[in-house]
Amino acid sequence: MFSIISSTTTGIDAIPVIVETDVSNGMNNFTIVGLPDTSVKESRDRIRAAIKNSGFQFPRGRLTINLAPADLRKQGPLYDLPIALSILIARGEIPAHTLEHAVVLGELALDGVIRPVRGVLTTALMARRIQKTSMFVPKENEQEAAVIKDLEVFGATSLRGLVDHLLGRTLMTKTVYARKIRAREDHQCFSFIKGQDFAKRGLEIAAAGGHNILLSGPPGTGKTLLARSFPSILPDLTEEESMEVTSIASVAGELTSSSGLIETRPFRSPHHSASVVSLVGGGTWPTPGEISLAHRGVLFLDELPEFPRHVLEHLRGPLEDGVVTISRAQATVKFPARFILVAAMNPCPCGYASDPKRKCICTIFQMQTYQKRISGPLLDRFDLRIEVSNLPQEKLLSDTQSEPSAIIRARVVAARIKQADRFFDSACHVNAEISPSLLEKTCVMSSEAKTLLGLAIGSQSLSPRATTRIRKVARTIADLAESNIIEEQHLAEALQFRGQKMQHD
Ligand SMILES: [Zn+2]
Repeated sequence: MFSIISSTTTGIDAIPVIVETDVSNGMNNFTIVGLPDTSVKESRDRIRAAIKNSGFQFPRGRLTINLAPADLRKQGPLYDLPIALSILIARGEIPAHTLEHAVVLGELALDGVIRPVRGVLTTALMARRIQKTSMFVPKENEQEAAVIKDLEVFGATSLRGLVDHLLGRTLMTKTVYARKIRAREDHQCFSFIKGQDFAKRGLEIAAAGGHNILLSGPPGTGKTLLARSFPSILPDLTEEESMEVTSIASVAGELTSSSGLIETRPFRSPHHSASVVSLVGGGTWPTPGEISLAHRGVLFLDELPEFPRHVLEHLRGPLEDGVVTISRAQATVKFPARFILVAAMNPCPCGYASDPKRKCICTIFQMQTYQKRISGPLLDRFDLRIEVSNLPQEKLLSDTQSEPSAIIRARVVAARIKQADRFFDSACHVNAEISPSLLEKTCVMSSEAKTLLGLAIGSQSLSPRATTRIRKVARTIADLAESNIIEEQHLAEALQFRGQKMQHD
């Protein structure tokens, strides 16, 4: 009996799968144990054809393949290659020791060509964890695997080519990770957006403290442009974050053949017609949704009230925990989903309720229905709510250059460093994640700031939740100003970003 190591993924973690092969005398028979029934027949057909079409004989007798552990859910096609190789070992075509220290995965076409699969990066991480030294993967996936240091990676195009390599006839070259340094896309620089200083300042605070932000205003005010430029002021991904982001994209099948590590923060903007599954993840074989693909980056929901309320409600848990849990009868799968939510909306169905120049034609009933589409608890997740208005003509025509994203980003990075120091021994990373138990300790206010907050609570009848939100935003503003204590002016600015009074406050 021979065995080859392959893998399966649950969430974004890979787990070893052992492909065991046994050939014995008896009637010709080819059994695969440990795969879902639906994929067994297809796998058998592909493997048999690929072996024959690569110029080998298919073994006679009773051939049994076992994929262990049996209770682990496995996706069929990626075991084609390890199963085919183990059959060829059983037939004596390849010496068993050639694959002893390797992890193998790949789908086979009928003609023996090796097709790409999902989850190669997570499998490579697993290979290193279980101390395997090499990996044989589909050519299209080789860059993904080569990201992992201390692992010899070979990208194979066909079963025949791979066998020739293992026999030492025609050697494949080891894959070298070709890191692509991508310059930041400066066509999304803040300097190209005229005016809108208030909204830009709000986005800077959101970036610095990891706060969710809601942009409200009439059509044509540039809400979408502001949101799309937002990633340009976010800090670079750390190596660890890159690895997480790439793993998710790999499991979701979103990486292209040339992709190595993803080094820019994701920006995802699903349409309001998106289904719950495409937004939060799921399916019979659970795959990550938009909120996980936005992990460590930005999820942008344009025209927020157009999203069905039941779809938006699915965001609340992940916004709180930074993770989405998908429950299936067989198992529960978790995908990371820690993102900054940026949303945009018109103030009313016609769009012009807050526009001084145009008249809103909505009825009170239409206005109420529109606002009710977003639940209070979801609205509560937005730390900053900003009114974006049309620019006065003289500003539109002025030639004054706005501040470029790189300069704003430098301030954001400095504020993030302050937060990293503050939270080094706690579970949160940014001010937006400050837990109730940490609030008093981390958001210390000067006596003037306290007095101001007291006045605001009285005059605007602020709820405890709204008060907490204001303090967290003030904490970020103080960090941007390099102040350890929240002073009166920081709190005053935070109060400005509370936005217009919404019915739920
Ligand atoms: Zn209106």
